[in-house]
Amino acid sequence: MRPDGANVIQSVCPKCGLPAEQGLCPQCILESTELLICPDLAEVTICSVCGSRQVKGKWQIPDSRSVEELASQAAVDSLWFHKEFERPEVELELCKVGATRYLARASVTGSFKGQAVQKQCEIPVRIKLVACDRCSRIAGKYFQSTVQVRGNRNRELSKQEMEECKRTAESMADSGYRGGDQLSFIQEIKVVKGGLDIVLGSTQLGRHLARALQERFGGKLLESCKLVGRKDNRDVYRSTLLVRLPRLKRGDIVSFRGSLFEVAGFDGKTTRIASLREGRRSSLSEESAENVEVLGNRADAQKAMVVSEDHDILEILDPETFRTALAPRPKDLEIKSGEEVKVVRTVNGFIVLE
Ligand SMILES: [Zn+2]
Ligand SMILES: [Zn+2]
Repeated sequence: MRPDGANVIQSVCPKCGLPAEQGLCPQCILESTELLICPDLAEVTICSVCGSRQVKGKWQIPDSRSVEELASQAAVDSLWFHKEFERPEVELELCKVGATRYLARASVTGSFKGQAVQKQCEIPVRIKLVACDRCSRIAGKYFQSTVQVRGNRNRELSKQEMEECKRTAESMADSGYRGGDQLSFIQEIKVVKGGLDIVLGSTQLGRHLARALQERFGGKLLESCKLVGRKDNRDVYRSTLLVRLPRLKRGDIVSFRGSLFEVAGFDGKTTRIASLREGRRSSLSEESAENVEVLGNRADAQKAMVVSEDHDILEILDPETFRTALAPRPKDLEIKSGEEVKVVRTVNGFIVLE
């Protein structure tokens, strides 16, 4: 009420003339506010080789989403909402309009300053197929590092060791890639004279792999670097990691200080061994490892039938000639005649494994 007692003039919306409390009426506010902006085009960049997707300039590991799902997601992500647009919900209908083109029809609902809002728009989506950095580098024979696995003067790499190197390389390359290293890939695995060359996309992967192989097989690791050129004003190096395997390998049965031992693993320069008779753990120095007598390897074990047994000796059937032979019985080995045991043939007769 004014002091003079005159009636208050109802204020009106300057745009439409309808009554309004102050300034524009709610309807005109709604009409003049940009609540939703639809882009002219949304893009999805996918590697045509591996299916990974580029997001904000970064390549992401391929997942199980289909191209349609990615296109829908890109359409939704491309929408811009006014910050006071409350609880916007987008319903999308996706149509394929070409080999790499889609049209997304979006129907958006929500509220703005207490009023229900419904908007519609169409977003063209284009699928851009390119080769990702990783796939281009793989195709371009790119590599940073070579892990050379070699035997030594006494022995070459066994088939099993080669297989294990390959498996380890594959699983490490894969987990490095999943961990975000785009260059974590195997360029090539070559069987060469004396061993295996594992050619890798990244030096980091090379170092990890070389260390893992040394831990598994023992032996020595030697790294060298070579300058191969310059790129973007930086020197480009390639590393070579030589893993030279020791004379002994896991599962080797050796004669040491009058007892039989099996090689259990490696700790740096020492070789861990366990006695076949009692399982007693011990280790060999570098020098002993070079000199102990190797009788066989657990991997070459065969099954043999026990013909008769007493406290210290088993009489077994030679699995190849089927003649009987005698072998020392491991302490505490529970076995009866007619059962089978695992044996390793050596120049000094059979060794029974537990
Ligand atoms: Zn109005
Ligand atoms: Zn790719």
